[in-house]
Amino acid sequence: MSSNIGVMGHPIGHTKSPVFQQAGLDELGIAETFEAWDVAPDELEEKVTTFRATGFLAACVTLPHKQAVIPLVDELTEAAEAVGAVNWIFNRDGKLVGHNTDGTGFLRALKENTGFDPAGVDAVVFGAGGAARAIVYALKLAGIARLTIANRTVGKAQALASEFSEGRFKPDAIGLSRDELANCAPYAQLLVNTTSLGMAGGPAEMATPILADMISADAVGYDAVYAPPMTKFLREVENAGATSAGGMTMLVYQGIEGFEMATGQKAPVDTMFAAIGKVLKSG
Ligand code: NAP
Repeated sequence: MSSNIGVMGHPIGHTKSPVFQQAGLDELGIAETFEAWDVAPDELEEKVTTFRATGFLAACVTLPHKQAVIPLVDELTEAAEAVGAVNWIFNRDGKLVGHNTDGTGFLRALKENTGFDPAGVDAVVFGAGGAARAIVYALKLAGIARLTIANRTVGKAQALASEFSEGRFKPDAIGLSRDELANCAPYAQLLVNTTSLGMAGGPAEMATPILADMISADAVGYDAVYAPPMTKFLREVENAGATSAGGMTMLVYQGIEGFEMATGQKAPVDTMFAAIGKVLKSG
């Protein structure tokens, strides 16, 4: 029999979620096993149906199902609606609620890790894919002053910018050339990489969307990429004398918000970070 909480994706072998989620459940004395479910796209609908069972708590949703589950749940939270993706499904008395904690996880990671508050700042987000959507949503929520979305495919940056434009919040959309970045990047207090550049096993592990000479020493550079923990982008941020932070904290904080909503209890944050830290150290 399946457990009442877990993460589903396809493939799922690489997931680190059970490590820190289980540590949290154990610390609070909750007798559940946080499982990892390999669910192929053609098994998705059937799997989601099982989440309505009495006693079922929640499922964390990862690639490639974050959009595909939307029509399978009964209700979306405002965050899931705005981001256009679901990374948690909660069972509320047989009713399935789809939520998204990637953006709020990012904001909490930024605050806890660097003490940085994005309210009123100028920021550049590199990338216009799924992670960028969650982060643009979060930065809008946090009240940033100006946002530039820089992406290889400018059309995608433009689409994202116009989708989130509202009132005085009107993101600019540009490409990744040095000329285009020169007008905004050196003046930004926050730079966020959400491209797959730098990602282990990705298109270009040794690449970065920006070099140190265009980064202000007063800036914070956050990389959504979490493997490897030190990317070329973060090295450029450090070479500029700026503050750097890697994506593992966003991953854990998205999970912590999901944990708290699933269990109705405050997560033992230190225990959960210690658990993931131990696994990452041991390789
Ligand atoms: P995605 O939707 O596939 O988007 C990929 C982005 O990378 C697009 O903007 C794409 O640009 C850009 N890109 C890909 N190859 C490139 C290249 N060779 N040169 C320049 N740009 C390139 O992926 P995603 O889901 O947003 O994930 C992006 C990264 O964020 C991954 O490393 C993922 O692991 C990480 N992530 C982290 C968290 C976390 O919790 N820390 C959460 C989600 C994702 P085009 O539009 O031009 O193709």
